[in-house]
Amino acid sequence: MSGNNEGIIVVLSSPSGAGKTTLVKEISRKKNYQISISHTTRKPRSIEKDGKDYYFVSDSEFKNLIDQDRFLEYAKVFQHYYGSSKDVVLKKLESGQNVIFDIDWQGTEQIKKQKLNYRILTIFILPPSRDELYKRLLNRDRNDEKIVKERMAQFNEDVLHWKDYDFAVINDDLENCYKKIIKFIESEDNENDPNYQKYFSSLIKKNICNMFKIIGVLKFNII
Ligand code: ADP
Ligand code: 5GP
Repeated sequence: MSGNNEGIIVVLSSPSGAGKTTLVKEISRKKNYQISISHTTRKPRSIEKDGKDYYFVSDSEFKNLIDQDRFLEYAKVFQHYYGSSKDVVLKKLESGQNVIFDIDWQGTEQIKKQKLNYRILTIFILPPSRDELYKRLLNRDRNDEKIVKERMAQFNEDVLHWKDYDFAVINDDLENCYKKIIKFIESEDNENDPNYQKYFSSLIKKNICNMFKIIGVLKFNII
């Protein structure tokens, strides 16, 4: 457990396109959370800015950073490397700032395994349906069918990791989803309050039922 003046870690993961980057930005804009800006070897999207959305680096630059032990975690996702800067994140946490991550399940596992001396809350975001996910990816990735297909193909596998997270929520309406996440995060600050605990255990169960519906339906819904 962290002391009172140390930050906490919040991690959001999801199948690609479910909306975690949008949610992480919203949480950071409205609440006291600093985004961990990752390094990646992927090429920037047209609206992405170096140093704001990611640090865009070459394969050799990324490998050098691995050799210098500069990552808290890193993973290969969709043929590219992604990693979170160790120094930057730890300095923020030590100075009492909360840090929020938008990383995949492999990175989440790595951070959990390190048993850092900070409280960590992990949240899994789901799309309302596979059709909606497809539309969101198509819209974001500028109708690049190859990228969209690659990411849709990964959905059935990625979605199974929800069960390793503390909380899971469907991103249907953005504002609603945001509010559920904030309520969950803030309830953790009140962990001795039985009403909060009851509320969240019922919400999680409801979400899990919804997820099973989604997985069941989506498996047979081939786009
Ligand atoms: P991820 O980070 O999970 O891959 P993004 O945050 O990039 O997903 O969202 C994918 C696309 O879906 C973006 O174009 C984003 O604006 C849009 N989006 C996110 N949440 C919603 C929502 N609740 N309703 C409609 N569109 C959304
Ligand atoms: P995108 O290319 O859509 O920005 O991200 C693809 C995937 O990589 C997403 O699941 C995203 O959460 C994940 N990702 C982004 N940054 C990191 C990181 O630093 N570490 C890990 N492990 N995954 C990341």
